[in-house]
Amino acid sequence: MPTEDCIFCKIPRGEIDSEILYRDDRVYVIKDIHPIAPVHLLIIPLQHLVSLAYVGSRQAAVMGHMFTVAEEMARRQEVTVSGYRLIVNQGPDSGQSVVHIHMNLIGGRRLGDIG
Ligand code: 5GP
Ligand code: ZN
Repeated sequence: MPTEDCIFCKIPRGEIDSEILYRDDRVYVIKDIHPIAPVHLLIIPLQHLVSLAYVGSRQAAVMGHMFTVAEEMARRQEVTVSGYRLIVNQGPDSGQSVVHIHMNLIGGRRLGDIG
């Protein structure tokens, strides 16, 4: 899919109305439109990376940065002590619905088992 049609490329360009909670030169963070927990944020690289299958050593820095930003956002949402989960869905079996890599940060309630 070209980046012009990608939701997660359109949001930082201001083409879709969405409150951006955090932004730097590599990633941005929004609230999920259909939250599954009291805290449900999406940490999204500005670069259109379609899937982990296309991530190589050149993307290692931005992928690592996503974890750093996730922890910072968890601190701001006050879930670092209670705990939270980071999920990157990859491919059809995972239920990945947006074909632009993103990390789900989920917390604020007791989370069930994975699977
Ligand atoms: P996935 O299931 O692919 O890991 O996660 C995609 C997530 O993006 C879903 O939880 C979905 O609710 C969220 N989402 C899809 N479109 C939008 C949108 O336009 N705005 C926001 N804030 N979230 C979106
Ligand atoms: Zn994109």
